[in-house]
Amino acid sequence: MIDIARRLYAHVEALFPICRSITGPGLRQTLDYIQQHTGATVCEVPTGTPVLDWEIPREWSPRSATISRLSGEVIVDFADHNLHLLQYSHAVDAIVPADELARHLFSLPDQPDLIPYRTAYYADTWGFCVTERQRAAITDAAYRVRIDADLAPGSLSYGELFLPGETGKEVLLSVHCCHPSLANDNLSSIAVAIELAQHLVVQPYRRYGYRLLFVPGTIGAIAWLEANRNAPSRVMHGLVLSCLGDSGAPTYKRSRRGDATIDRIVAHVLRSRGHGDRLRTFVPYGYDERQYGSPGFNLPVGCLMRSPNGSFPEYHTSADNLTFVRPDALADSLDLLKTIVDVVECDHVPVNLSPFGEPQLGRRGLYAAIGGQRETADADQRFDQLTLLWVLNQADGTNSLLDIADRAEKPFGQVAAAAAALRTAGLLLNLEEGEAGLTHGVAGPRDR
Ligand code: ZN
Repeated sequence: MIDIARRLYAHVEALFPICRSITGPGLRQTLDYIQQHTGATVCEVPTGTPVLDWEIPREWSPRSATISRLSGEVIVDFADHNLHLLQYSHAVDAIVPADELARHLFSLPDQPDLIPYRTAYYADTWGFCVTERQRAAITDAAYRVRIDADLAPGSLSYGELFLPGETGKEVLLSVHCCHPSLANDNLSSIAVAIELAQHLVVQPYRRYGYRLLFVPGTIGAIAWLEANRNAPSRVMHGLVLSCLGDSGAPTYKRSRRGDATIDRIVAHVLRSRGHGDRLRTFVPYGYDERQYGSPGFNLPVGCLMRSPNGSFPEYHTSADNLTFVRPDALADSLDLLKTIVDVVECDHVPVNLSPFGEPQLGRRGLYAAIGGQRETADADQRFDQLTLLWVLNQADGTNSLLDIADRAEKPFGQVAAAAAALRTAGLLLNLEEGEAGLTHGVAGPRDR
């Protein structure tokens, strides 16, 4: 756990200094890093390309930006903090009266020491984000403003990694990667997704394909959907990953459907970890779940977070920094996702092959199996006699393991382990896979 926590945090540290936006060199540098660590491919969509109801914008390449006194003293410098420059500011080199400058400054009166994060992607303007104290120090009559930045035809970049699975059906995992130096929103999720990809790639068997998207918020998801209008035919489950590194408890925002299988899976996993109070209903705001969940697509995509966006004072400010993100929280988020993937992979409808009366468990070595796991099995997968009885009782061909786990109020891992023991004992069959399920083995809970 400590090693993985360190690895996750190292990704956040490595990416923090880069100035990302929805296009441009910082985004590309970030995607290069993701490519190096996962093998994801980077797609480029040219400026002006129509995507759904939108158009790919010009590419933004900021180089330097300062506000100086006429004496030459620099008082705000983009080189000091990536948040200082309003995103998508166009080039400027002018002497600006203080009252006009004030209209181009953004600060947080209630958080005087913090720099806000602001964007103007489609506004054709310029601006600086400053602390309230920096703003208060602007007392001269005029200032020299210099912004060296290109806003020119180029392309929008996004990253995509697909790990194929047995069934041709997919799980979509989407991460926004367009924010400059903000650690929780959303370098935390980039880090978690990189390590999840490395975990998925070494699995000997994947029932589902896993498609990981690293996209600029809104426009990136829209560009991907434009190119994947058939997504509803193959995406069975999906999650937007956001703000996965703060010390808050995990939170799940349900998909637009509200009762999709992914909604039931994440709700079950959060409840079994003691976070049943962290389930939220869908609202068409937040992250790209509202693109994937727009009515034309209606993909079953929820949003997994820790503290929800907008709910913590560090959100979209310079306080969302390397101190705010915690290695242990990143590791807990990754573990949570691995557990969710386990349920996605292992859930199936079991059938009791001895449904008339209760089969004799002792004769088949199942009591010995319960006893024997005390030393060997992972605590998450250690089942008791009652769990065996629940599985046998409910395995009438209509209930999935998830249904049984919910009804029995037992963690899915224990129910799946009990089902695996019953399969070994010849008492249970996987309805979907029939005999094949017995021969090549239904994917078992992961080894940890
Ligand atoms: Zn954000």
